[in-house]
Order: sequence, then structure tokens, then C-alpha cells
Amino acid sequence: MSLPGGRNGIAEGICERSARLAWSGTSGETGAFRFLRELVIMLASFRELAVKSPWIYRINAGSCNGCDVEMATCALIPRYDIERLGCQYCGSPRHADIVLISGPLTRRVLDAARRVFDEIPDPKVTVAVGVCPISGGIFRESYAVLAPIDQYFPVDVNVPGCPPRPQAIIEGVAEAIEVWRQRL
Ligand code: SF4
Repeated sequence: MSLPGGRNGIAEGICERSARLAWSGTSGETGAFRFLRELVIMLASFRELAVKSPWIYRINAGSCNGCDVEMATCALIPRYDIERLGCQYCGSPRHADIVLISGPLTRRVLDAARRVFDEIPDPKVTVAVGVCPISGGIFRESYAVLAPIDQYFPVDVNVPGCPPRPQAIIEGVAEAIEVWRQRL
């Protein structure tokens, strides 16, 4: 399996160092020093690996699917391919670094959205996609809607629009990557 953002080469380096760590002698000062040095280099490699390739997860918090279609455009159509930024969508919140939330946050999805959001490890960056998470958009008068979403989740980047164009989503993700790098 190929990993995004040059992860393959770095991952091989980490595997090699792990093997060396396992085989390096730990008795005596030389062995302990070698062990620590290899460990420090390996941890630096892990950081480099993470910094290069943030993974993105998406939460639909009651959207009409318009924003989600535009997000899918950023994943499937080469012209707007978001992987050019060195990131990619992932299937599990536990692997994610950046979360895109669409929709006005309906009462019905609040608990599920919170549960999934809490599964994303820190330091995570949240991008609110569309005008719905910002103000409720066309659903703002509804009794079923809780927006603005930032009263329930910490939002780092807003991407307004109904739905936002793929270019705006790409720009929002680029901004989110910068915020995420500063937090690492
Ligand atoms: S912002 Fe517009 S397209 Fe996006 S979920 Fe709301 S109504 Fe739908």
C-alpha cells in the first residue's frame, strides 16, 4: 500500500531503526547511549511522517448533502484533488488530524457527532464547511437545528458558501494544515 506525502520512505526508515533498536545492546554505557540516540531519531522520524501527511475525516451534522458533494469532488476529481496538499481522506476518526463538519447540527445528530468528534486525537483542527455550520443557513429558523456549530465544537476555519466551491474547500483545508502544523 502506498502512503501519501512521501510516507513510504520515512516509514521504511522507521522500520529499519526499530529493528536496529531491537538488536542494539543495552548493557553498558555505549549500549544505553546508542539506544537513546536511535530512539530520538526514530521519534523525530515519526513527527516528520505525521507533519507531512495530515489525514482528513468528515462529519455530516445534518447537511442537505450539497456540501458533501463538493467535498467528494475534492476527493474524486483530479482538477480539485485535495491530495495535492499532501493529505487524504480517511475512514476512521481515530486516524484523523483534520475534521470537516458540514450541516447545521441537528438535535438528532448532536450526541453521535460529539462521540465521533471526541474520537479524533488531539491536536485536531476543525473546519466548518458551508454556511449551515456558521449560522444554520436556510435551516436557521428550524426548531431541530442547533447552529452556530461553534457553540458545541471548537471551530478553527470557516468555509462559507451554500455550498462552497471546491476551490474554497481546498483553501480552507490548506489553512487548516497550517494551523495543525503550528499545534504539533
Ligand atoms: S450550506 Fe447549503 S449546501 Fe451546505 S448543507 Fe447547508 S444548505 Fe446544504
